[in-house]
Amino acid sequence: MDQPLLIIGAGLAGWQAVREFRKLDTATPITLVTADAGDFYAKPTLSNAFGQKRGPAQLVTTPAATIAQTFNVTLLPHTQVTAIDTAAQVVHTATGPLPYRDLVLATGAQPIRVPLAGAAADQVLSVNSLADFGVFHQRLTALGEAAPNIRIAIMGAGLIGCEFANDLAGAGYAVAVVDPSDRPLAALLPPTASAQLQAALAGLSVQWHLGTTVHSVEPLDGALSLTLGNGQTLAADVVLSAIGLRADTTLAQAAGIACERGIVVNRQLQTSAPHVWALGDGAQYASAASPGAPTGRTLPYVMPIMAAAKVLAANLFGSGANIATLEFVAMPVAIKTPALPIVAHPPAPGHLGAWVEQTLGEWWFAPADAPERAHGFVLTGPHTSKRMALVKQMVPVA
Ligand SMILES: Cc1cc2nc3c(=O)[nH]c(=O)nc-3n(C[C@H](O)[C@H](O)[C@H](O)COP(=O)(O)OP(=O)(O)OC[C@H]3O[C@@H](n4cnc5c(N)ncnc54)[C@H](O)[C@@H]3O)c2cc1C
Repeated sequence: MDQPLLIIGAGLAGWQAVREFRKLDTATPITLVTADAGDFYAKPTLSNAFGQKRGPAQLVTTPAATIAQTFNVTLLPHTQVTAIDTAAQVVHTATGPLPYRDLVLATGAQPIRVPLAGAAADQVLSVNSLADFGVFHQRLTALGEAAPNIRIAIMGAGLIGCEFANDLAGAGYAVAVVDPSDRPLAALLPPTASAQLQAALAGLSVQWHLGTTVHSVEPLDGALSLTLGNGQTLAADVVLSAIGLRADTTLAQAAGIACERGIVVNRQLQTSAPHVWALGDGAQYASAASPGAPTGRTLPYVMPIMAAAKVLAANLFGSGANIATLEFVAMPVAIKTPALPIVAHPPAPGHLGAWVEQTLGEWWFAPADAPERAHGFVLTGPHTSKRMALVKQMVPVA
């Protein structure tokens, strides 16, 4: 029998690669090996589940066995891949070796952890998977019905931190957010948009501790006491760290596959090793400005995964003939902060320019000498309805 197409990872990238490949090829055997249970869920729902009173079980949209059967996939759940031998075209797991025709790395990213002082530092949680969410959900529900006497401290005012702040405050918890920047979503938004978001979440009683960091976490009277870099203390029942994700390059690096901020792939999704491909939060896509060069960017969002999975499937089906190339069309991200809906299309890294406010609620990112050549935008509140029109207006950049 032919060796299978082997996919590592059952996140959106892994399952979407399966879905796209099966549209083209129903015969080639596919094996999907994953450290988790393999259930299909939409990860973005993790940060708006409390408001909808949904627990981990309600977030699974297709159980692992069902999706595996639908796409005729041999699923190996709860199986960690420990090594890749690219010369022998085999991956190693605790339960034995698995040969492959082609290998897809869809291993995602891991939460960044900063070393914290204090005897309760190990109680800080992060949420980047359904299992993580299960722990977080269980920890909160054990404290009783959502109420303002249950205090949650969130480390990080980026996309995930702000989404959780909105969701949890909206559900009735007392939320405090700590971030070293002087404003929320500083990496994505112009200052006035950050100010709008800060005010909107303050309207839900979110307490902001900006321009400082969490230094230590100590147990205190059955709860936790956080000491901040500015000397203040903060009491919390649960601490959630949302300070960012880093592409998981562990396996690829150990196998000698080129990695930088992620597993380096070209526009055809090939890694530096023959018959090995990558996509999703773990990948670093080459920029068109330097095709094939080991530079590019990570794109840890849903839309790039959907686009990458199509390209990957076409190239796998064509037996590596490189018939398809990933194009970076404008892929704006909708930030799930209903207190202030936001759509952000951040400019590509390395492209110079400045934010120009068109009106309060609409900002364009454009070169200073060519304000009409905008290649990024932010929309807030009612202005988010202009999303599609603006996507068409943006100058494409790689
Ligand atoms: C809370 C939250 C909210 C988000 N909201 C949005 C949003 O609103 N819009 C948006 O566009 N994006 C959002 N994102 C980002 C988006 O969800 C991710 O880009 C996407 O889900 C990543 O999918 P992935 O398959 O690349 O990685 P993952 O989902 O991390 O999957 C990685 C898989 O690899 C497996 N794996 C890893 N290592 C091994 C190994 N050695 N052996 C076996 N298996 C292994 C894991 O078990 C897992 O199944 C959000 C992310 C989070 C955390």
